[in-house]
Amino acid sequence: MNTKYIFVIGGVLSGVGKGVTAASIGRMFKNRNYNVSAIKIDPYINVDAGTMNPVEHGEVFVTDDGDETDQDLGNYERFLDTDIFSLNYMTTGRIYKSVIEKERSMFYKGKCVQVVPHIPLEVISRIKAAAEKAKAEIMIIEVGGTVGEYENILYLEAARMMKLDNPDDVLFVLVSYMPVPGHLGEMKTKPTQHAARALNNCGIQPDFIVARGREALDKPRREKLAFFCWLRSEDDVIAAPDVDSIYDIPALFESQKFPERLSKKMHFRLKSGRDVAWDNYVKKLKTANKKIKIAVVGKYFGAGQFTLADSYISVIEAAKHACVYNGAVPEMCWVDSEQFSAQGGPASGGEKTKNKNISILSEYDAIIVPGGFGERGVEGIIMAIKYARENKIPYLGLCYGMQLATIEFARNVLGLTKANTVEINPKTPDPIIHINPKQKENMSHNRYGGTMRLGAYDCVLTTGSQVQKLYGTKKISERHRHRYEFNNDYKERIEKAGLQFVGINPEQNLMEIIELKNHPYFVGSQFHPELKSRPLNPHPLFMGLVKAALKK
Ligand code: GLN
Repeated sequence: MNTKYIFVIGGVLSGVGKGVTAASIGRMFKNRNYNVSAIKIDPYINVDAGTMNPVEHGEVFVTDDGDETDQDLGNYERFLDTDIFSLNYMTTGRIYKSVIEKERSMFYKGKCVQVVPHIPLEVISRIKAAAEKAKAEIMIIEVGGTVGEYENILYLEAARMMKLDNPDDVLFVLVSYMPVPGHLGEMKTKPTQHAARALNNCGIQPDFIVARGREALDKPRREKLAFFCWLRSEDDVIAAPDVDSIYDIPALFESQKFPERLSKKMHFRLKSGRDVAWDNYVKKLKTANKKIKIAVVGKYFGAGQFTLADSYISVIEAAKHACVYNGAVPEMCWVDSEQFSAQGGPASGGEKTKNKNISILSEYDAIIVPGGFGERGVEGIIMAIKYARENKIPYLGLCYGMQLATIEFARNVLGLTKANTVEINPKTPDPIIHINPKQKENMSHNRYGGTMRLGAYDCVLTTGSQVQKLYGTKKISERHRHRYEFNNDYKERIEKAGLQFVGINPEQNLMEIIELKNHPYFVGSQFHPELKSRPLNPHPLFMGLVKAALKK
């Protein structure tokens, strides 16, 4: 079978769940044992997502090969249970950069290099290269933005050109939104009709419309959409109402015969047999009922719940995955570290927000300190870590959460009261977390984009440690995104006092995992375990946290 390319394009609104739709379409085929991969196209000029503010843009998802990408790639990995690579992520900046570099090296042999066709051709060649690398039978391509915008027009042109070349192998799904205006109380299809028109103007006829909305579409509206958007049948309108869990969506699509219709239009016969691992996960998810309260402690500068859910999506999902396997449901609570003061009264400056005593943490079953950068909120985070350590609350520190846990330990157990990371205080007498020379040079030249320690690194675990038992193996590979490292000059003293380094990078002797003795679960990792947690493969470090939380 030739690779089949399914383009997923948005209409009407952003944020309607195009990424989840793309991932769910992939999952439907994965359930039928196809080799599926997915590509995300982000139309902005940034070369990658690494330099973007996560509170505005959402989480930066890091791939094994060290790319800093959009959070949607995380959804793909979670739904498809497969690794997604740098090749599967495109931005306008990246495409132009590579076309310009090719031009400089005479790749175009003296031709005038033009926006069309050279930009779409570059896009097409990347899509094909990604499909080849993944040996994909089905490749899903999510075009960022909504149709009708300037930004994604060249990607739609690439899609159109691909369809012309291979009509049987390329197909278009328009994911659109059906609003229910309050004063009318009925679902309106007109905005979607306009979106389909806008797509027609780009030379693209949608094959399917996935109709997002609060409720499922009724028959008259299906007919209307099919008729006015020139679909072949009303069955080519797929209803996608809001659901409790995004993991329900593949089944929702399958119940509408979406895979059968897709395969028919692309002229291939669906494989027989169906893998039920995903269904079983969803079943477990539905029956899980033991509540655990997890405090996620960080600096949140009053960002809304929605933004936070986006900025920490992999952390939230990883906690959910581990909970499902333990029959539990996590309640994730955002705890702003800036509100803590030592005495419980207003802290220095007397700001209103800084008036909570750290002991409010006693109401949680587990504490997570996620990744982060900079000074803001750090003293409050360190207080929270101390509280977790002393009060035996299960703790998991992710990257910054590991670094700050070693600093807390150095300050309060070893008595190195000025211990710090050089990220915050370059002149600290006790740089527990320091920077290596290569990173120092990057910083001094303002080389911020793509220069952190990024992507997968090997790590060897100490036999018999709690963490090693959780992994059930000695050699692991995990994903990183940070500039600073633990300073090995302090290793011996810290270990003697009871905080063990139980995961070490063998090539560079870097300390990757800490584990505290005589504590139900106090673990921190220099890498980001949340990036590798999947519904069908929950992450061992989150499993450890949830198990300990349930015991508490
Ligand atoms: N700011 C820390 C560093 O750069 C931690 C980064 C993170 O948590 N991802 O090393």
